[in-house]
Amino acid sequence: MVLVVNCGSSSLKYQLFQSETGEPLASGLASRVAVEGGQEASLQHHSAGNREYVVQALMPDHEVALGYVLGALTDADHGVIGSLAEIQAVGHRVVHGGEEFSESVLIDAAVEAAVERFCEIAPLHNPANLQGIRACRRRLPGVPQVAVFDTAFHHTLPPVAYIYGLPYELYEQRGIRRYGFHGTSHRYVALQAAQLLQERGVCLPDQRIITCHLGNGCSLTAVQGGKSVQTSMGFTPLEGLLMGTRCGDIDPALVPYLVNHLGMSMEEIDDMLNKQSGLLGVSGVSSDIRDIHAAAEAGNTRAQLALDIFCYRVRHYLGAYATVMGGLSAVVFTAGIGENDPVVREQSLRELEFLGVYLDPAKNAEPNLRGQVADVATGDSPVRVYVIPTNEELMIARDTADLAARMPPQMG
Ligand code: AMP
Repeated sequence: MVLVVNCGSSSLKYQLFQSETGEPLASGLASRVAVEGGQEASLQHHSAGNREYVVQALMPDHEVALGYVLGALTDADHGVIGSLAEIQAVGHRVVHGGEEFSESVLIDAAVEAAVERFCEIAPLHNPANLQGIRACRRRLPGVPQVAVFDTAFHHTLPPVAYIYGLPYELYEQRGIRRYGFHGTSHRYVALQAAQLLQERGVCLPDQRIITCHLGNGCSLTAVQGGKSVQTSMGFTPLEGLLMGTRCGDIDPALVPYLVNHLGMSMEEIDDMLNKQSGLLGVSGVSSDIRDIHAAAEAGNTRAQLALDIFCYRVRHYLGAYATVMGGLSAVVFTAGIGENDPVVREQSLRELEFLGVYLDPAKNAEPNLRGQVADVATGDSPVRVYVIPTNEELMIARDTADLAARMPPQMG
């Protein structure tokens, strides 16, 4: 069995997979972990064929939360394994791997130190990831642990794509550059799209794919010959597309303007750009695209504007990335919005026939696409349009099982 762990600052998401088949056996989420004020945390645990199992308890840190997770996994009524000895490896989602990690790695002291070092450039994510790693080391001693980085897939970006137009010393001395995120999701759907294109006779070196991860966070990636060559998120996940609550691209001169003319502090600006902007900020309604649709249909013009900007930005980047790659074989939509929202797909691809993109409106609007891989382009469209459900946890489980299987026996 492989346990996949994804720690946020106040949450612990997990999924247990059968190592050989990749079959998911159980999953769950502990929320309100490590929150101040003595509030109880809640663990919601699901396992195949069982009712949801909920545990309310104090979970002052991730290690205590993990204890409850392991308890649920081995619980006589709700568990799926007889003992913790069945967990052969643990895979962690780690947001930032800096420039050091181009692929998933077994965690040793040096890797752990690197994850800690990157807390400086990913203060919202890496500290929690690190806590998860340490909690697993203590609760599951001797079990190999693997780090799967959100940044790793974008390691193949060329310097023209990742160097900002800033003094070069900032890159050399402080690592300030584009890193890109959502890499595990982009890699997962790009691999599937590559296979589908191969079946149509487009060999890997000729493939030019744009993967659109549109969820709460949104990013586009240009994947040429199986490699990420450009991506819309940057030094942090704030850059690029309009997102649920993040602004995406803005003029950086706005920041000193807001300080000097509105008297805002850096903390206030950071909070505004990350949490009060995007669909929420423009519409004033919600960060959830379903609420935006409902409000727009009811005549709310700002909600309509938010939706229009959202799709306009996707189109903007699609055009840019097709140009960067010198052509286009397929566009892939994934994540909450990408997989479920035919209006966003249609509006983002509108008038892209000049690039060879012909969407089939009926296939695109098919209500029961959910959870399935679908090709929603017309039969003779030169560019394919795929809807592919992402599965970052499965990708992490596969990498983890592969690396653990390659370990010399004495390390296990
Ligand atoms: P994710 O970050 O991938 O979980 O995506 C979350 C976002 O996907 C939500 O904020 C919604 O805007 C969107 N979403 C989820 N389910 C649907 C749905 N059935 N139809 C349209 N949008 C959806």
